[in-house]
Amino acid sequence: RTVYVNGSFVPEEAAKVSVFDRGFLFADGVYEVTSVLGGKLIDFAGHAKRLERSLNELDMAAPCTMDELLKIHRELVRLNEVDEGLVYLQVTRGAADRDFVFPEGVAPTLVLFTQSKTLIDSPAAKKGAKIISIEDIRWGRRDIKTVQLLYPSMGKMMAKAAGADDAWLVEDGFVTEGTSNNAYIVKNGRIITRQLSTDILHGITRAAVLRFAREAQMEVEERPFTIEEAMDADEAFTTSASAFVMPVVSVDGAELGDGTPGPVAKRLREIYLDESQKVAV
Ligand code: PMP
Repeated sequence: RTVYVNGSFVPEEAAKVSVFDRGFLFADGVYEVTSVLGGKLIDFAGHAKRLERSLNELDMAAPCTMDELLKIHRELVRLNEVDEGLVYLQVTRGAADRDFVFPEGVAPTLVLFTQSKTLIDSPAAKKGAKIISIEDIRWGRRDIKTVQLLYPSMGKMMAKAAGADDAWLVEDGFVTEGTSNNAYIVKNGRIITRQLSTDILHGITRAAVLRFAREAQMEVEERPFTIEEAMDADEAFTTSASAFVMPVVSVDGAELGDGTPGPVAKRLREIYLDESQKVAV
């Protein structure tokens, strides 16, 4: 595999980042994951815009222009012959002698790599996901896409240990989001998902799916919901750039509907896959 590090496309074995990199020492970095379908990038503009926002919120320098970033994405997809899969991008504040205070005049680190994988015909999407709920003990700026992913990683392990596929995070009695996705329930045809704030990541897939839902005259309500409400929902689903629309078939052991992916989730998955590929770059 060829990866990109600070201006060069190199074999992954040759890629190097300093042990003093603040991404490594402080999780002082942000990232984006963009999906690739038919060799093209899905919603690159959305990911680039969110990256700029994350960098801005952390007073971190942009490593290059967003136009250059698009060229790097495309070149890496070409070099690795990715037809279906993901491009992972990470920007950190760079390498500096270890100190909590942000260093000045340090060049940011920019790393990208690709992963080829089947996303559309995923067996998980056909089966639907089983969800458990766990407490949301992450920090308070979840709208910044930082690389502090230890708790989400622990959450996935807790789900696995419980025989489930993923976890939804609960704060003050309400679901914030999934470990690596935004969370939705459907009741009487109405799609319910938490409104945007600093409590959740502003999902690029969320924005697109809600737009498509409204265009298809589906009812959307942006408000917090509880796990009890989710257990009593007709169906549920999650959205993310890597799994698109993922149906949820049970919450804390309560089966939703007939325990198979629901019609709203299936329809939104289809619409999302169709529409997002039409404007892929
Ligand atoms: N919430 C969290 C916590 C996430 O990690 C992700 C995916 N990185 C999402 C939501 C979904 O965002 P997107 O649709 O932009 O992938």
